[in-house]
Amino acid sequence: MDTAGQLTTPRRVVVKVGTRLVVEPDGRPRRDFLTRIGGEIRGLIDKGVEVVLITSGAVGIGRRIIFDHPGRLLRVGERPSAAAVGQPVLMQHWAKALGEVGVTVAQVLLTQDDVVDRGRCMRLRETLEDLLGWGVLPVLNENDSVSTESVTFGENDLMAAMVAVAITPAELLVILSDQEGLFTADPRANADAELICEVQPHEDVSRFASGAGGSESLGGMEKKLEAAKRATDCGIRVVIAGGNVEGVLGRIVSGEATGTCMLPRRRLPSRKAWLAVHLMPRGTLVVDDGARRALLHRDGASLLPSGIVEVGGDFHAGDLVTVRDGEGQEVARGLANYSAEETRAIMGAHSSQIRELIGREGAADVIHRDDMVISAADSR
Ligand code: GLU
Repeated sequence: MDTAGQLTTPRRVVVKVGTRLVVEPDGRPRRDFLTRIGGEIRGLIDKGVEVVLITSGAVGIGRRIIFDHPGRLLRVGERPSAAAVGQPVLMQHWAKALGEVGVTVAQVLLTQDDVVDRGRCMRLRETLEDLLGWGVLPVLNENDSVSTESVTFGENDLMAAMVAVAITPAELLVILSDQEGLFTADPRANADAELICEVQPHEDVSRFASGAGGSESLGGMEKKLEAAKRATDCGIRVVIAGGNVEGVLGRIVSGEATGTCMLPRRRLPSRKAWLAVHLMPRGTLVVDDGARRALLHRDGASLLPSGIVEVGGDFHAGDLVTVRDGEGQEVARGLANYSAEETRAIMGAHSSQIRELIGREGAADVIHRDDMVISAADSR
């Protein structure tokens, strides 16, 4: 987006494709789709666009290989093992489709803690930079085989948003699905359903989301909108469009109205964007009204110990915590300069008393402004 809000060709794009596009309901790979999207990705690369691909489909392909029976659904707990079988086959299909147009692919498998841990996130970033620099297409999926409940992304829409924001960072996130975008009602059930072409950054369109994913695809429109909001809140434009539409990627990148375009808020610097998409805060600081107002309305205010009235959780210095007001509303999130125990000792006190209270010299603020993002709802 240039300063007049006009679309310029994005330099870097994250493209996410869902299970229903990649595999048939019976688990066979959709070769025509893979070949066509491979060609379209090549088209973007030829325009100078760097592409990161996020693909689902491992579980669906794996299920078919193991059971060879379309009606045999996976039991809870079988998904990780089915993914282990399906992932290499999924990659073979992408490698073939892209290889035919001269693009080398690289596989990267992630769980959420790879993004949440700042060190690993930086390593991933360097890896992707290398791959993109070499003209290789990074193909990402969740590392389902080792993903536990506490570290899973849940579904790949969210993973795509986190990758677009925290790792690449991209200007544009394209979520391709079997639906051509967000409609005013479910288009499969309602002939009057209209495509919503543009969504403003502050607009709540969640009421239009209907339909869940399936036994292998976890997404659904609601999840897509949640993921899209995370990305747009950090300044990334999101387009949800139909993967079965011929030429869809080229059209989106050249700014043609295609699918539903969700306009971004202002772009956050990368460190703050990483904080904003971080899903695993380790604690909570409840602040009084004065501190709340200072954070929301005074440019450059840090969180001082004097404004903190309650400390929840057990965190270390450097961990991510959320800042809430007395009503439980999130005001901000950021990296704490003190552990939970230390913060409890200094809360309500003046910064000059810190040394006396915890027996060591430390920062005057509990969260420095540079390590904090103000929550979306309040900063609009
Ligand atoms: N990672 C899963 C797979 O490859 C898909 C998750 C999702 O549907 O979002 O099958």
